[in-house]
Amino acid sequence: MKNILYKLKKHLRKCYGTDQLNTFFLTLSVILFVINYFTRNHLASFFIQLILLLTIFRSLSTNIWSRQKENKIFLSKTKKIRNFYLITKKQFNDKDHKYFACPSCSRITRVPKGKGKIEIKCPHCKQIFDRKS
Ligand SMILES: [Zn+2]
Repeated sequence: MKNILYKLKKHLRKCYGTDQLNTFFLTLSVILFVINYFTRNHLASFFIQLILLLTIFRSLSTNIWSRQKENKIFLSKTKKIRNFYLITKKQFNDKDHKYFACPSCSRITRVPKGKGKIEIKCPHCKQIFDRKS
């Protein structure tokens, strides 16, 4: 028994664990679960189980390089959505500044509000773009 636990611990140390893609899958499955609670759709139930199995597979996988590659693709595909959410959140908390995503590198830049149309130089990639503050 002690040997099995030792082997299990040894395997779990090599596992990938969780990342943003797994968090997204878990959130999606919870949302689908809530929707399915009211609609009682068997197809949605199947998708929830599939998503949860995929999440468990990704968490316990020892092929870390592939899991990181999948997560990197997920992060690059959702960058605009995540930036929109981040800008909206920052804009809501900071009423004195306006936030813009650089069209070149997608990093968020902060400028003072109420200055009219201004030229913004990205501090990271030095790209210049015009926005109304
Ligand atoms: Zn930039």
